Amino acid sequence: MRILLVEDERRLAEALRAGLSAEGYAVDVAHNGRDALWHASEHPYAAIILDIMLPGLNGYRVCRRLRDQGDSTPILMLTAKDGEDDEIEALDTGADDFLPKPFSYGVLLSRLRALIRRGGATRPGVLRLGDLELDQAGRTCRRGTADIALTGKEFALLAYLMQRPGQVVTKAELLDNLWDFAASATANLVEVHVSALRRKLGTETIRTVRGAGYLVATSGA
Ligand code: CA
Repeated sequence: MRILLVEDERRLAEALRAGLSAEGYAVDVAHNGRDALWHASEHPYAAIILDIMLPGLNGYRVCRRLRDQGDSTPILMLTAKDGEDDEIEALDTGADDFLPKPFSYGVLLSRLRALIRRGGATRPGVLRLGDLELDQAGRTCRRGTADIALTGKEFALLAYLMQRPGQVVTKAELLDNLWDFAASATANLVEVHVSALRRKLGTETIRTVRGAGYLVATSGA
């Protein structure tokens, strides 16, 4: 079973990685939020252990970003202090469980096992638009009975639009929510991915609202 561990304190990260590996987990380690998002977009994980205090993009933002992208991987968040506010915010951003630091390794293991057993508490369902079906838990897309292979970014883009049917979404909003380096990414990048999606889905699904952005019409509209 593959786990993503996101922790910037390298000695703690290495100790946890070694311990989890000894338990039989395959463990990928990210030391910052951006790497975490990259790993999560590249591999399916059984669970993510996510520290809150990270350089750059903190754990809350990583969690929020993953959920906005339709990623429902169970997340165990490591809260920095025994503060109720941290814990509430962790759950509000879509984490499934939290563990205050410092924690005992045994407790971490048992919480992780429990989390994997029950899956994500906030596991989202299937998005539908006419005969188009996007399964956010299974990460599959189909039109009728035909499977459509999407890249991670195409999946995230389509999920974002399908969660907002009938609503115009600007390129800036898409860049801000779906790309890590919003400053260096451009509107052109969004257009390239929308074109790729249209080649796979047909041109009717995602409409261009000139000068404003994109929209998927509500079913039947
Ligand atoms: Ca930290």
